[in-house]
Amino acid sequence: MPAPPSRPGSGTPARTASGALLLAGHGASRGNALGRARVRLPHALEVAEQRIPPARIDAELARLHVAVDAARAEMHDLRQRLHGALNQEVGEFLDLHALLLDDPELLFGLDELIRSGPYSAGYALRVQRDRLAKVFDGMDDAYLKSRMDDLDHVIGRIHAFLQKRPPDVKGMAGEILVCDNIAPSELAQLQAHGVVGIVTAGGSALSHSAILARSLHLPLIVNVPNVLQKVADGDVLIIDGSDGTVTINPQAPDLRGYRVRLREHAREQRELGRLRTKPTRTRDNVDIALLANAESSEDVTQAHALGAHGLGLYRTEFLFLQRNELPDEQEQFETYRDAALGMSGRPVTIRTLDLGADKADRTGLTLSNEENPALGLRGVRLSLARPKVADTQLRAILRASAYGRLRILIPMVSTREEILAVRRRLHKQAALLRAEGYEVAEHIPFGAMIEVPAAAIALESFIDLVDFLSIGTNDLVQYLLAADRNNEAVGELYSPLHPAVVRLLAHILRTGQAYDIPVAVCGEIAGDPLMTRLLLALGLTEFSLHPGTLLEVRRAIRDSDLSVLQAMAPKLLQARDRRGIERWIEKAGIDR
Ligand code: PEP
Ligand code: MG
Repeated sequence: MPAPPSRPGSGTPARTASGALLLAGHGASRGNALGRARVRLPHALEVAEQRIPPARIDAELARLHVAVDAARAEMHDLRQRLHGALNQEVGEFLDLHALLLDDPELLFGLDELIRSGPYSAGYALRVQRDRLAKVFDGMDDAYLKSRMDDLDHVIGRIHAFLQKRPPDVKGMAGEILVCDNIAPSELAQLQAHGVVGIVTAGGSALSHSAILARSLHLPLIVNVPNVLQKVADGDVLIIDGSDGTVTINPQAPDLRGYRVRLREHAREQRELGRLRTKPTRTRDNVDIALLANAESSEDVTQAHALGAHGLGLYRTEFLFLQRNELPDEQEQFETYRDAALGMSGRPVTIRTLDLGADKADRTGLTLSNEENPALGLRGVRLSLARPKVADTQLRAILRASAYGRLRILIPMVSTREEILAVRRRLHKQAALLRAEGYEVAEHIPFGAMIEVPAAAIALESFIDLVDFLSIGTNDLVQYLLAADRNNEAVGELYSPLHPAVVRLLAHILRTGQAYDIPVAVCGEIAGDPLMTRLLLALGLTEFSLHPGTLLEVRRAIRDSDLSVLQAMAPKLLQARDRRGIERWIEKAGIDR
């Protein structure tokens, strides 16, 4: 995904030069938008107790069922309209909402309340909602607890249809939604109805919604304290997803500034477009490899069109999500083969399953009761604990290797034994496949993700076992700094600009050079043009990033002089804090 712009706001209301109120939050998805505010106060189903005469029970039941069917049809309709990556990202949430709409506990309970109350459908909905909220509240599991938001969303939709209110997303064209928080499924729906931007009082720039907003190119500003109090329905807003600001009722100079920014953006897009066919080469003529991260066939097509040197990370777990049964060997083979064919001979790095932690599936593969899933059975640990699943995947990759230049990448490695175990399985499956008459490539480069600090520090103890390395900074930063990548409360701590991260990156790159093993970075920082020169200075020559920011990073590389940056590297490694590293970046002269 495109990297989040990451300038934290103070949350203190200020004023623009023309006197308009200016709020600051975190820009979670870049881009500017001008629109009328639609303020949505935190959801509360305020329906007064309403009993109905027994003679109306049947009619009330029918009214409820019509509303539930309408909510179901709305969900189905939205599912049909989603394509590509969006389908994958949001589909999971829509499927969950569809399941809730079919949940007997919810529906029978409602029917029962209407009959026994006898209550109006609206009041029954409220009673049932409050009952379920109590059950969710009593749960220990944070993930399950958070599913109450999904339930509220579903109940809110039924309620809207009950009131024959058109869905509140309709008629929102050109509006900016201001709310407390936003669910990923809702986000897609809002964009489909013409919403041009979103501002939330809570939320995190690393949430699933934020990632999705970036891939939708929908400006999103999160964590704007007081926004629900300061903005009124119908206020005109300018939002800027790059610096995380919200201007309320802009005056002439603010509007002029906004139009200037839009023109600049359009010009920048045109200029970037020219780089599609240009080499990724520094000013002093050093070629840098730009590979793409992909999760879907659409990403592969985009990567190819932008001239990516290959795929540096194909996240196979997306094939395992949103379904109840595991994908079989043939389905996996076809997916990996098509990725290889799609990149027409360029290297394609298939990462073995990285389920677990925040990527939980419904197939029963991942454990659901782990106290601390980020430190639990995920990535290669899960694969080795489920050898049949691992062998099926390895066979599919091996068979696909006959169709292009495949490489295999193992996630979450922390020990030499894990690499040896996967290699043994791989060699055994290759021999079996050849005996079965399949064509398997002679040599499939074998690599490890470096995203657990132990693997980074003890790299020399297993580097002889790999052909290449790829640094997963998203996880490396969270494990190194003990700061959850999904928790906004520690968002300030979760920073790749900590001196420990920079020094560890330098160590990994130096070790790779010493042993002549290529090292890539495939975490989000590889796609952030602000980080490009820092990574070049540390000696990185291979970036793997979401295609969305590939051209921006290519431009940053083409504007860089490697020898100058490398001469500045010692200063970078001496920095004592984040501010010191930021100053180094400023000095290195980043162009955004
Ligand atoms: C990473 O951790 O940097 C990485 C690329 O893997 P993922 O984001 O899929 O965990
Ligand atoms: Mg990772």
